[in-house]
Amino acid sequence: MTLQFHDTATRTVREFAPLTPGEVSVYLCGATVQAPPHIGHLRSAVCFDILIRWLRASGYRVTFCRNVTDVEDKILRTAASEGVAPWIVAERNQRAFTWAYDAVGCRPPDIEPRATGHIPEMIVLMRRLIEGDHAYPAGGDVYFDVCSYPEYGALSGQRLDQMRPAEDSDNAGAKRDPRDFALWKAAKPGEPYWETPWGPGRPGWHLECSAMSTKYLGPTFDIHCGGMDLIFPHHENEIAQSKAAGDGFARYWLHNGLLGLAGEKMSKSLGNSLLVTDVLTRVRPAELRYYLVQAHYRSMLEFSEEALDEAVAAYQRIERFVLRAAEVLGSLDDPGDDEPDRLPTSFRSAMDEDLAVPAALAAVHACVRDGNQALAASDKTGARASLVQLRAMLDVLGLDPLAPHWSGSSGGPGAGSGERLRQVVGSLVKLTLDQRDAARARRDYATADAIRDGLEEIGVVVEDTPQGPRWELKR
Ligand SMILES: [Zn+2]
Repeated sequence: MTLQFHDTATRTVREFAPLTPGEVSVYLCGATVQAPPHIGHLRSAVCFDILIRWLRASGYRVTFCRNVTDVEDKILRTAASEGVAPWIVAERNQRAFTWAYDAVGCRPPDIEPRATGHIPEMIVLMRRLIEGDHAYPAGGDVYFDVCSYPEYGALSGQRLDQMRPAEDSDNAGAKRDPRDFALWKAAKPGEPYWETPWGPGRPGWHLECSAMSTKYLGPTFDIHCGGMDLIFPHHENEIAQSKAAGDGFARYWLHNGLLGLAGEKMSKSLGNSLLVTDVLTRVRPAELRYYLVQAHYRSMLEFSEEALDEAVAAYQRIERFVLRAAEVLGSLDDPGDDEPDRLPTSFRSAMDEDLAVPAALAAVHACVRDGNQALAASDKTGARASLVQLRAMLDVLGLDPLAPHWSGSSGGPGAGSGERLRQVVGSLVKLTLDQRDAARARRDYATADAIRDGLEEIGVVVEDTPQGPRWELKR
């Protein structure tokens, strides 16, 4: 089987053939850094981390670009409410995202451009669009003229005459057509702005991805990824901007399903309980990653604590075999790259078929079963074969318990102890906080306060929130 992807633009599964043989360019719409990430934000990151790993495992040289949207309405609102500069809000949240991506084992992108660092490129693109009669300045804003691009709506399967007005302008009266979208927004008092030939202002969201993907991957590149919620208007608008300007733009469009809670898209109204930092006090990062990758990337993943628990149990089944086998076999050495066919055919074909991780995980669990049987029969050769195969598969999925990322070591006999310790600390703090709650319940406030002070003394800062106490280590 050759590598194939479901392409949103054609609504078909297409065989993958890169523009340049042996090389693949990938652009992923990254975070809008308006708040710290919840686990919904990580789904897209881990799904496409697996895409990148699989492309590399398949022998491609990959250039992976993931942007950061560091100027937009919510960042400006948060900054205003805190009385700080927007850059401070963006910087703080970008650090939180970077930490979370790293925590769940997403390899960093090759290029991570920020919108505010690419204003000149956006001005060039707007000039090209205005000169080609695809955009026009109006009242300090610059708009894209959707009627000038006959393919508008093709990605999301909509007809222009049935589309609603674009709700991205405070100055909608300036538009020629209510469906036109803003490339650039005029400066408002107190907001950051950049000078352009059409007046001072700031970028609309869509423009940055066209400008940055072209800059780093070229006018035509291979794969564009993002969450399904970005298909319209964001990706529709990216295509219109780039193609109207004469660029080839993305050749394949991959979209991941969202993480939902009771049918609702995850939103900030859920409070803090699903913040990555909070979930990682309950489960280990590798377990969270397993939970996020186990479903097919295109399917919706409904969040529940039970589903998270099941994922934890499934990951631990794999981990138990790997650690036991490594102990019995007496060597935790990396199998190395000298055995290129360590991946079972069933795993390869699953991954080649639009990254079918559920089928790939079936191969993983079959291998764990075989390995456990070999161990039970004291069949060291069989156990070793299973371990080598298993670790190769887990490496593609970013889930090898012996990988330095998870074990906190290069794979010595104590592998896994770093994460284990973290889990124990999390459980101990929770136990202590339960004691404090019990003290409060019996109105023994002196003890409750003493527990809080004691925790703070050892560097654990507790904050009471409507969702219950949260804690973090003092930095
Ligand atoms: Zn984008």
